[in-house]
Amino acid sequence: MDPIVGAVSQLLAHARGEESASVFGLVRTAERIRQRPLTVQESDTLAPGTFGLWRNCADHDEILFSPWVAAPERTVAHELGHILLGHPGMPVDEAVRRTLPAEWHDVAGFMLRQCGQNSTGDDHLRRLERDAEGFASELCGRIAGAGRARSARIRSLLNEAL
Ligand SMILES: [Zn+2]
Repeated sequence: MDPIVGAVSQLLAHARGEESASVFGLVRTAERIRQRPLTVQESDTLAPGTFGLWRNCADHDEILFSPWVAAPERTVAHELGHILLGHPGMPVDEAVRRTLPAEWHDVAGFMLRQCGQNSTGDDHLRRLERDAEGFASELCGRIAGAGRARSARIRSLLNEAL
């Protein structure tokens, strides 16, 4: 099975009650599977143009999303993808790019290279982003599909009742 589809299936298989009805519900599922606290919150501290961010802290994980994001569920699903696909926490240079003002990027990147911390190549980063996007599409598609199936079932029950 495709590892991305597999990760989505595994998440949905562990969902309890209404958790599988939304990405925010499935955050609770992910928390249980990983046995590690995972918080989600809106944050206006992200760099301009940044939709969301996964912060891998010592004893918990945080997903932050910008207040202007049109589809927070989709952004959270993308970050959840990074977490559940076992991607490394955000590389330091990426964190710098997303949290420091643009005029600082060159000098911060230079300093990080001096420290030997800029080891992940751009191709690798692009592949991780593509996989997280794939996860978000698959997950949001499955949630929407299940919602349609639920309402179709309710409609047919209503039709029978009428
Ligand atoms: Zn990403």
